Amino acid sequence: METKKILNFGSGPAKLPKAVLIQAQKELLDYNGLGISVLEMSHRTTDFNQIITSAVSLIRELLNVPENYKVLFMQGGGTGQFSAVALNLIGLKEDRCADYIVTGTWSASAAKEAEKYGKVNVVNPKADRYTGIPDSSSWSLNPSASYVYFCCNETVHGVEFNFVPDTKGVILVSDMSSNFLSRPVDVSKFGLIFAGAQKNVGCAGVTIVIVREDLLGKALKECPTILDYNVQAKNNSLHNTPPTYSIYIVKLVLEWLKNNGGTDLMNQLNKQKSSMIYDIINNSNGFYSCPVNVSCRSHMNIPFRIGSLEGDEALERQFLEGASKLGMISLKGHRSVGGIRASLYNAVTVEETLALAAYMKEFLNKHQP
Ligand code: PLP
Repeated sequence: METKKILNFGSGPAKLPKAVLIQAQKELLDYNGLGISVLEMSHRTTDFNQIITSAVSLIRELLNVPENYKVLFMQGGGTGQFSAVALNLIGLKEDRCADYIVTGTWSASAAKEAEKYGKVNVVNPKADRYTGIPDSSSWSLNPSASYVYFCCNETVHGVEFNFVPDTKGVILVSDMSSNFLSRPVDVSKFGLIFAGAQKNVGCAGVTIVIVREDLLGKALKECPTILDYNVQAKNNSLHNTPPTYSIYIVKLVLEWLKNNGGTDLMNQLNKQKSSMIYDIINNSNGFYSCPVNVSCRSHMNIPFRIGSLEGDEALERQFLEGASKLGMISLKGHRSVGGIRASLYNAVTVEETLALAAYMKEFLNKHQP
């Protein structure tokens, strides 16, 4: 029996490239002729060392990471990094202050976590709803902050930075969990970038950290050893047992990315895919509405409402049911905001996005008053 084609628009853990799954399946029982699975392999073997080393080199190559940065694989997810960033960096200056640009749920959570370890200054005026990036002229940056933190793409609210904030020389830290490797990035402008793998570059269990070497070794004394970047850097991310299989999947995704045009092509495709959906929203006479300001609408996660700005829940339910019948899954908005959310990570194809766009048009024609 032919299985129904599923189109996965989930926000994460999210769709992986088909080629990656096929390769992983092929190697599942016998990796590289060793007679064992990567799942069964010691992290101290030459074979695993080759996997982790090539994953690091591919990240370096794909993002043109300068020599004076380390690439680490850590555990604890993006949330673990909310603590790790503060524990490692807030003590860079005596005052133990950090600036946070809060543009959505994830940067708000990171700021809250950092408060445990020092003084946190939310630089932008408080907003009722996260629908944009407040003009940088309204930010109250503190020149003696240890770092400035921002979330490059707010997965829940669909707010994405398309510029690198000017911190006037203060170290810049970014959570790129949901747009990592979706476009080129000038790593040299950052002190630290982190990204949970389970959205754009792999499966859950591993978080990638790119950190400038001169920031290592400055952690607070209460920093747990496994969250200490310096310890992980000195041990090639092998201080303790790392999430070996997740690192292996990341390596496969990176190879796929390299063979499929790298970040330049992904950027082009991601813009093309997201425009297909935003165009329908913009031309729907208010039937579909995206609350996010046009200048910072995410290319990765598109939240929208149906029927009215606040959303007609019955209509939205119908939309989701109809989508599900067509095999389109995980389109429900985050529970905190409701509505619909389409996530269009690198692995989501133009054809799949076209199918969603066609369904949105059909639904509009049928239900528009
Ligand atoms: N940062 C961003 C931008 C996210 O989207 C998420 C999760 O969705 C997190 C952090 C938290 O990641 P985790 O669930 O791996 O802790």
